[in-house]
Amino acid sequence: MPPSPPMPQDRGEAHIRDSARDRDRDRVRDRGDACPGALRLHRADDGALARLRIPTGVLTPRQVRALADVADRLGDGHLSLTSRGNLELRGLGEGCGLGLAELLRDAGLLPESERHERVRNMVVSPLAGPEVRAWAARLDALLCAEEWTLELSGRFLFAVDDGRGDVAALAPDVTLLAEPAGTALVQAGGPGAYRVAGADAPRAALAAAEAFLAAAREAGTGAWRVRELPAGQDVDVAGHLRRASIAAEPVRDAVVPAGAPLAPGLVGEDTVSVLARLGRVTTAQFRALLPAEEVRVTPWRGFVLPGLPDRAAAEERLRALDGAGFLTRADSPWAGVTACTGRPGCAKALADVRADARPVDGGLPVHWSGCARRCGHPQGVAWVDVVATAEGAYQTTVTVQGPTR
Ligand code: SF4
Repeated sequence: MPPSPPMPQDRGEAHIRDSARDRDRDRVRDRGDACPGALRLHRADDGALARLRIPTGVLTPRQVRALADVADRLGDGHLSLTSRGNLELRGLGEGCGLGLAELLRDAGLLPESERHERVRNMVVSPLAGPEVRAWAARLDALLCAEEWTLELSGRFLFAVDDGRGDVAALAPDVTLLAEPAGTALVQAGGPGAYRVAGADAPRAALAAAEAFLAAAREAGTGAWRVRELPAGQDVDVAGHLRRASIAAEPVRDAVVPAGAPLAPGLVGEDTVSVLARLGRVTTAQFRALLPAEEVRVTPWRGFVLPGLPDRAAAEERLRALDGAGFLTRADSPWAGVTACTGRPGCAKALADVRADARPVDGGLPVHWSGCARRCGHPQGVAWVDVVATAEGAYQTTVTVQGPTR
């Protein structure tokens, strides 16, 4: 693994440990948080891997060009998309950590406080308007400004949902859901929620995360996520909203709409949505997303290009992106097919799932996994689970998404 700039050493996990023996027995996490980041690279079988958080989900054209150049110069000439809307660079060579950090810094892809780059885990509705996108940007700034947020694990997830329920369905730990009146519901694990003024929404999400950390300390079981807290462990969102002087109305039976993932194709008159086949693109494909005023990365392993001049221009872009190898139609048999890294990139893999992956009948999303960890599987929907077995075969089951807590 190449040298990486100094990073905090698993502060959160150390902080929430409890020495009581009975609690130790119930611990859900015994290891430190090894989640990779842009500065803390992970050594995979195909070289080092860097995971970039894109907290608002938006890349500028300059950042698209910079990432493509980085993947060509330092990586394997591809970019991978994750189920949280992150981008991964793989196949990074030995000793590239410092050079990579410099290139990402120059492209504005690292926060000012670089120690916070792994806690900026946010998914944002890709079609959200400026107000909701501003919430996401503000929440990112707040996260990066607080020392205590370094205690959040690299897996703790915020969803900033514009009200359609698309990213709220991704089993986040803290959800901000926009309401038509301009207010927001904030929820940490549910089912109850709190209604706050739109102007307070980012601070409310931060307060909910702080409430989770307090609950995790109290439980002492090493939980990284709300759903990992012991049953009955209260997350005192109300108390933390009060402490932050945020006026909030309890909403006992908050209903979060069940939004569907954004399908590929034309969206309205001036926006296009495309998917990357099996969540991976070549740098040539990535560059083909330009020209665009901005490129939005989605948690369904796709991209959205808003603001095209008119419908004809949008249809033309869609045809061009189809020619570049993107999935551009909702009825593409590959639209619901995802796969983990598998062989040869992952040492745990029992098969080259990306070579084996194919659509299945039945209309459900299908996820191919090289082992029982099922990295990157769909969230919030029923899906077909295809897992490689030690016997050289695949086991297939239909999985119904369980509750998030
Ligand atoms: S599911 Fe298993 S094989 Fe696939 S990437 Fe995760 S650990 Fe590796």
